[in-house]
Amino acid sequence: MQFTDVVGHEALKERIRKSVSDGRIAHAQLFAGSQGTGNLPLALAYAQYLLCSNRTPTDSCGQCPSCRKAAKLEHPDLHLVFPMATAEKSDVDSSIDPAAEVIGPWRQAVLANPYLSEAEWYNALDMKNKQGLISTASASHVIRSLSLKSYESEYKVMVIWLPERMNSAAANKLLKIVEEPPAQTVFLMVSENPSLLLKTITSRTQQITVPPIDEQSIAQALQQRMGVAASMAASIAHISCGNYSKAQTLCTTPTGTYYERYVQLMRLCYANKYLDLLSWADTMAKLGREEIKGFVNYALDITRNSLMLNLGLPDLCFSATEEQQFVQNFSPFIHRQNIDRITNELTLVNEHIAHNANASIVFTDFVLKLSQIIGSK
Ligand SMILES: [Zn+2]
Repeated sequence: MQFTDVVGHEALKERIRKSVSDGRIAHAQLFAGSQGTGNLPLALAYAQYLLCSNRTPTDSCGQCPSCRKAAKLEHPDLHLVFPMATAEKSDVDSSIDPAAEVIGPWRQAVLANPYLSEAEWYNALDMKNKQGLISTASASHVIRSLSLKSYESEYKVMVIWLPERMNSAAANKLLKIVEEPPAQTVFLMVSENPSLLLKTITSRTQQITVPPIDEQSIAQALQQRMGVAASMAASIAHISCGNYSKAQTLCTTPTGTYYERYVQLMRLCYANKYLDLLSWADTMAKLGREEIKGFVNYALDITRNSLMLNLGLPDLCFSATEEQQFVQNFSPFIHRQNIDRITNELTLVNEHIAHNANASIVFTDFVLKLSQIIGSK
């Protein structure tokens, strides 16, 4: 991955390149940014820049043997740590890499989409709703491999994706090597939630805050990479609030269909048309889990937008152009007194579906409650 593959963040890229050319590279750095800001691709581009044997003032060369290996995430001096499904065992042999079996799927998933979310990664591993872990065994293996000499590059780079998923034993092991790192070793931690990290670790790292991506860069990337028309790309960039993962999802999922379903739901609820609501619920219950989740997230967004208009805050209303008229007309019905109950009911749908509840019961219950909240009677 090169800097040019990273959406936006021009100022940050410049700061990173300058630190390399000035020879002031902090040995432990923490890229802190919420999901979709691209903190992982930024760290990977940085790693390739350090490993490149022919870097220029603007980017890695992309051509040298180091770049080719780094681009495939297969460089021997690029060490990768990430959460996975793992059972914690003691006394494991640190020469055995606990990630050996999942490094392949991880490379594949990240190369296919460097902006992938934690949940998407767990889905790729078919972990159901379980949360991954960076185990003590992983940490031990890291420490052992870093103590070996670098194979071919000037630097050894360790990228730790989501260090907040380390348990405290693993974090303490890692702390030791961060305190006394081997020469020419750079740790790049990529965190979505640095507050969960041990203070002793964060205090020893240079923190780089990765902000939401600017709208223009997102719009441009959507046009160039996904072939989205300019006006649509601008709308989606606006709604995505600096989250490129969300922007990608909005481009590939039928938001038109979400929009129609949402409008239909709200009209039926307002008119207390119970029979039609039950048939709406029945249709929704037949959708796949991801599609239901997509709809609920969409509904949460558009409901929030209606509230912003109701409160007289149009600048905080991130709606695509075609939805604006509906949001405008509908906004009087979404207000401070009912917003919590509506978002609560929507969130419950996602939670119940995620826990394999019967979708038909979930949606029937949902439409009846929602029509009580916003029905005209
Ligand atoms: Zn190169």
